[in-house]
Amino acid sequence: MPPRARARTSKTSSRRRTTKPRARSKSNATPEHAAEIYRRLHLAYPDAHCALNHRNAYELIVATILSAQCTDVRVNMVTPSLFAKYPNAEALADANRDTLEEMIKSTGFFRSKAKNLLGMAQALVERYRGQVPRTMDELTALPGVGRKTANVVLGNAFDVNDGIVVDTHVARLSKRLGLTKETDPVKIERALMPLFPRDHWTMLSHLLIEHGRRVCEARRPKCEQCVLNDICPSSLV
Ligand code: SF4
Repeated sequence: MPPRARARTSKTSSRRRTTKPRARSKSNATPEHAAEIYRRLHLAYPDAHCALNHRNAYELIVATILSAQCTDVRVNMVTPSLFAKYPNAEALADANRDTLEEMIKSTGFFRSKAKNLLGMAQALVERYRGQVPRTMDELTALPGVGRKTANVVLGNAFDVNDGIVVDTHVARLSKRLGLTKETDPVKIERALMPLFPRDHWTMLSHLLIEHGRRVCEARRPKCEQCVLNDICPSSLV
């Protein structure tokens, strides 16, 4: 049997299909496909929301900076004492660096995060009287704040849909669902924006993240119980 034919035996095919699904080459990236995905996910997770606990924009920007390379659950364990000690940008701007590092140590990369938090808080005090600005340009000019963090803050603290948060779940599901073949987060965001109405952008991220955590997991997607399995080009069922 020639090598190419051997590679297509049902045994090999079955082994491959038990791991990661692959998006088929044909893309279904139409607004209609996107709308149906949104409709079903919204039905499945009507209460999807930002998993980082916060009471205002200041707390959310701090929590989002801490969430880099860290779980939201872990961040939520750290922030209550952090917000009690540093309840606003003025307090955080004056924080002792060693103390701050110690308090956020469990979130990982604590030295660079402490540096970014101090720089961000000092910039808020110097430029915006301690308030968090409401535009993408102003936010991304702050130390430690990239487009993803800015999108989280704009969408969840200010109800401003300027862009779409693309984290690891959003990136993975966008590809599996045939919404884009891009792998760079900014390119994924650009591909998603024309497919969904602007006022859905913040919720879209919450829905994809929720589905990625509960069903479409990175290593073992539960396609058999997925509400999208009949319209997903990567479905294993
Ligand atoms: S069918 Fe559902 S779980 Fe399976 S790859 Fe598609 S979106 Fe993910």
